[in-house]
Amino acid sequence: MQRILQPGEIEGLERIEFPRVVLPRPRELFADRAARLRELAAGAGEIAGYLLLLAHVAELQAKAAASIRTTPPACGSLARAVAHGLPPLPAAEAPDPAWRAVLREMVADLGAAAGAAAPVAPVLAALGAADDAALDRLARVALDGAGADPATQPFVMAALQVAAADRAARLSLADLPDSAPATLCPACGTPPVASVLRIGGALGGHRYLHCGLCGTEWHMVRVKCSHCESTRGIRLRGIEGGDPTVAAETCDECRTYRKLVNQEKDPRAEPLADDLASLALDLLMAETVYARASGNPLLALGTDE
Ligand code: FE
Ligand code: FE
Repeated sequence: MQRILQPGEIEGLERIEFPRVVLPRPRELFADRAARLRELAAGAGEIAGYLLLLAHVAELQAKAAASIRTTPPACGSLARAVAHGLPPLPAAEAPDPAWRAVLREMVADLGAAAGAAAPVAPVLAALGAADDAALDRLARVALDGAGADPATQPFVMAALQVAAADRAARLSLADLPDSAPATLCPACGTPPVASVLRIGGALGGHRYLHCGLCGTEWHMVRVKCSHCESTRGIRLRGIEGGDPTVAAETCDECRTYRKLVNQEKDPRAEPLADDLASLALDLLMAETVYARASGNPLLALGTDE
């Protein structure tokens, strides 16, 4: 006989049926993102050049992800993080030094590529000439979010993403805290860049928040605001007559929005790429009371504060 499940039983089922956290597979993550950026650039009008540049960056990220060697966290620090319910790889701490070599190689490859756009060339040259201390200063500012240099930020963050994704990929789910704030990445503590409704396999039909730094994804029920966890006044807003793949999920409680990227509308949708390519939606949202909850690491617009 069928019966209605009680609230506690539903949560129990959720834990059994699908993963709460999905750690990144960096090479696939960056390769998929590169392919998606190229695809989105085709219909992107004014921002096509930018998306193609970032597609190239993501290809270089995939290449770097195959060979990067980050230093594993000390066993003690992992155990302490779990015990205190904290992310084991906090982004606020100094990034793994391997990020600098990733940046330097990326900058050299981009600079050597035929057709490196004129405005980018001096930025690449400056990054290529920067010493370790200067790069670490740029990393601190980029990770902090406030006052980042819009010209260098995408490249700096791209290299930091490769290091962070590699470290996160080497974690096991047992290294992650159960009680971390649901609105921050359980691996590195960074706010999500967007959320994604996944299709297929164990993840299908579930909404995950996607970390803009390390690429870890973690589940959050769709009825909750991904910024303040309120369940009241959550709405999806899209551009009339526009692509339904990306919508802005707004919350009347905290008055922010974050994009929901829907793979049911386009199975190739990728949260970070689709967020970048839907800049027109951000421009429309800028005319509303809702501020963007968190920025895209590859675009130094930051949040509306
Ligand atoms: Fe993360
Ligand atoms: Fe909210």
